[in-house]
Amino acid sequence: MKLHLYNTLSRSKEEFIPLMEDPKYHWPKKDSVWLYSCGPTVYRDPHIWNMRAYICRDILRNTLEKIMWYPLKSVMNMTDVGHLTSDEDEGEDKMEKWAKREKMTVRQLADKYIASFKRYLQMLNIDEYQIICRATNHIKEQIAMIQQLEEKWYTYIIPGDGVYMDTGKIKDYGYLARLDIQWLKEWARIENENKKSKTDFGLRKFSPVDGHRQMERDSPRGKGFPGRHIECSAMSSRYLWDQFDLHTGGVDHISVHHVNEIAQSECALGTHPRVKYRLHNQFLNLGGKKQSKSEGGLVTVDALVEKGFHPLDFRYLCLTAHYRNFLDFNEELLETAQNSRNNLIKKMQKLFSFNQQKNQWNAVFLNDWTIQKIRGDVHAKVIIDFDYPMSYETFKNTLTSKYVGDALEEMMNALMDDLNTPQVLAILNQTLNSSDQVEEVEMKELFVALHRLEKNLLKIWLFDRIGSEKEKKSEEVPEEIRKLAEKRTQAKKDKDYALSDELRDKIIKKWFQIKDTKDGYEITKTS
Ligand SMILES: [Zn+2]
Repeated sequence: MKLHLYNTLSRSKEEFIPLMEDPKYHWPKKDSVWLYSCGPTVYRDPHIWNMRAYICRDILRNTLEKIMWYPLKSVMNMTDVGHLTSDEDEGEDKMEKWAKREKMTVRQLADKYIASFKRYLQMLNIDEYQIICRATNHIKEQIAMIQQLEEKWYTYIIPGDGVYMDTGKIKDYGYLARLDIQWLKEWARIENENKKSKTDFGLRKFSPVDGHRQMERDSPRGKGFPGRHIECSAMSSRYLWDQFDLHTGGVDHISVHHVNEIAQSECALGTHPRVKYRLHNQFLNLGGKKQSKSEGGLVTVDALVEKGFHPLDFRYLCLTAHYRNFLDFNEELLETAQNSRNNLIKKMQKLFSFNQQKNQWNAVFLNDWTIQKIRGDVHAKVIIDFDYPMSYETFKNTLTSKYVGDALEEMMNALMDDLNTPQVLAILNQTLNSSDQVEEVEMKELFVALHRLEKNLLKIWLFDRIGSEKEKKSEEVPEEIRKLAEKRTQAKKDKDYALSDELRDKIIKKWFQIKDTKDGYEITKTS
């Protein structure tokens, strides 16, 4: 199984061969795939346009880590220091502006919105990156990289303004964006009559003499704050060394942010290409227009939930478009996605509750904990297979059903073709539609295969019940279940864990789930 990814560097699909397996690459020895993703500027709640990007990256990470079974080291930055309102480093500082508006310090603002960002990741079933690094905690690394550039004569100073990168000294500046510097329109970059060339950009800006900025720091060149691009170069170098496998971002990063990030990294570190594969996701179209946080238009996941959608309806919608294509977004399209996701769940339920009277398949719709608990029944084999971590290739070899094997193979081929999730969903639907061809003995394998696909890749709760979290929680819990739960609480207080486990099992068998919380417990229906 070979993964092909569209590399913006070559403008073509390339086979993914990580540096650790690349015969042309020798040093330093790597034992994992290294990935860096440009993270958010944490001054407001992330809007869904941002979240689409993180969903696309989640699919990439799942594919590498849970399908291909590569060990992965993933790093994402949090921009918590004021760069200016645009990639071109113009305008007012967003962090300072919004901190004033919310009557808090810039640090408090950043803390608040980092927490909010992480909450959205959770709502959308996006795994957190192993390393999430804040720009303000890595100022030293940024200053050190600027010094490296100064030592190599790549910089110059505009007094009262900042330290600039002298792009005229770089032979292939802009190769990522295929920039034709000669024809680059003047307005496309910040105007500054003191710049040597129009593509030069600020590595570090000096604090204004008459003003104070909250996030300014001392440096050998005086008080100031970093330029827009230096943090990604400095932090990726700190955590992933000078050359690594993958760098992701939105297509809006191609022409300025990533071009500058490449220019300063490659000049400072002397490596080329700095990154083997550069992947970019396309925009979300809101009413045919890219929505920007700075413009004030804001659609958050919370807003969608308030309208009655499940956050994963949005995740599903994102998977229906290829990550390199525009995804149109409006309420109607989200409704369609909601219906499709619900239909998919219904089909799953119909398929796997065929012998419901024996309470067999329903058992496996419950959460992992429950599955662990129902050992000893006829599904012990299924349960073990379902939990056992392995690559897709290894898993395929455990299948005996040709029908299941072929369906899975087709889905994997689509995924390996530059992460074609719409195609994966189409094949999944076809498979469920033609499931009457599946022999009863093959059902177990089909279930395990789809469960793995859900758990390791899609993460849209295919095995869940339909309806929003709110609806589920508000459902009535019968008195009988409440009593069992109370008894269980007492048993736990008495440290009679055997009894408390027994009571939990009783609750589960009545199709309720009990979860311990800070204030006691929470009960939800499971079927
Ligand atoms: Zn970046």
